[in-house]
Amino acid sequence: YLKEHNARSVWHPMAHPADSQANPPTIVAGGEGVRITDIDGHQAIDAVGGLWNVNLGFSCQPVKDAIAAQLNELPYYSIFRGTSHPAAIQLAEELRDFFAPDGLTRAFFTSGGSDSVETALRLARQYHKVKGAPSRTKFLSLKKGYHGTHFGGASVNGNANFRTQYEPLMPGCHHIPAPYTYRNPFDETDPEKLAQKCLAALADEIAFQGAETIAAFIMEPVLGAGGVIVPHASFMPGVRALCDKHGILLIADEVITAFGRTGSWTGSRHWGVQPDMACTAKAITNGYFPFGAVMIAECVAEVFEQDKTGKAAIGHGYTYSGHPVGAAAALACLAETKRLNLPENAAARGAQMYQGLLALKDRFDVIGDVRGGQGLMSALELVSDRATKAPIDKSRIGAVQEATYRSGTMIRVSGPNIILSPPLIVTEDDVCRILSDLATGLAAA
Ligand code: PMP
Repeated sequence: YLKEHNARSVWHPMAHPADSQANPPTIVAGGEGVRITDIDGHQAIDAVGGLWNVNLGFSCQPVKDAIAAQLNELPYYSIFRGTSHPAAIQLAEELRDFFAPDGLTRAFFTSGGSDSVETALRLARQYHKVKGAPSRTKFLSLKKGYHGTHFGGASVNGNANFRTQYEPLMPGCHHIPAPYTYRNPFDETDPEKLAQKCLAALADEIAFQGAETIAAFIMEPVLGAGGVIVPHASFMPGVRALCDKHGILLIADEVITAFGRTGSWTGSRHWGVQPDMACTAKAITNGYFPFGAVMIAECVAEVFEQDKTGKAAIGHGYTYSGHPVGAAAALACLAETKRLNLPENAAARGAQMYQGLLALKDRFDVIGDVRGGQGLMSALELVSDRATKAPIDKSRIGAVQEATYRSGTMIRVSGPNIILSPPLIVTEDDVCRILSDLATGLAAA
């Protein structure tokens, strides 16, 4: 029944409807710890971590309890002008403490990552209008960057797959090359030199567009969906310096990187950068409730809060902004993440994973590039020919995924990349198992 009716009535995000009918998806029915079970009773470690979000695993009792308690207390109320509720206030205070080292002190709540990006882009434009610089409306971002699928986010996205069929997108969005060492227009293989070349491209684009027309630059501290591209340590600080020089806001898209995944508490902190805004979602509620928050720097907040013209009235928000159940879930997730010191485990297990993947590269020619090494975000880029770097055939990478799953590990395929982002609670044994299942999958395919 479930398999037939899925094909009949469900349209899947990020999939061709006919493809989903021809190749039925795995139907996941249960989850416990880092493992999921499908409707046929097959169990696997979820090396995808839901979708980069289930940091605490699938059975985190304190989060479930907090959700249940909040449902009994107050299942919904809005925080639009004139009302608020305790859960949203407590969470904003917690987040203020959590993000204090990043210089971020105000929270604007959303219902997910795309909403957070949309919010940050809008607030960036409004900030400049309130400040008396209404010509600053454009956005710059990285090719290969992923910022969700609202029209604003799609416009700053740097992957044609999420753009072409939805064009025309928002005007005034321009992209510079990403610090992607394996493939880049400069043929540069040294990460530090590549970072400098990408920064020069950013400086050039700012000059070309005119700094007085640019509202913000948005980037992921580690690029996730684009294939886990880890910039050189000089890159994000260099972006910060250019933004400061030209009065451009820096938006950190921390939808994946906030709350420990990189091995640091936030991705920006990992690189020693204080952004003007940070978009969060995903692990803020461990995936148990759709929720997000845009964190705002004091210097941005002041411009809004000291406005006397009325321009700073926020004409933006979501019915579920600050949803009490999401806020309660987030409070419990933050407490558990701190109690378990998850960034430390992410760093240690991430290093183990990265070394293991490098060892697989020695065994399998199909692996063109191994990326990661900063916490539990890693990727393998598969090629049909190492010398020419020709991308692998789609059906072959699908076969790797299928065989790895049969062996006991769920992995994610995105274009030519296998992406690994397991829950941050994985143990050393779990990582060994992921690596051995992946080896079995690669060998079988
Ligand atoms: N930004 C980044 C960096 C993301 O990785 C994602 C989701 N993968 C989003 C934004 C969009 O988040 P959502 O899917 O929750 O809308």
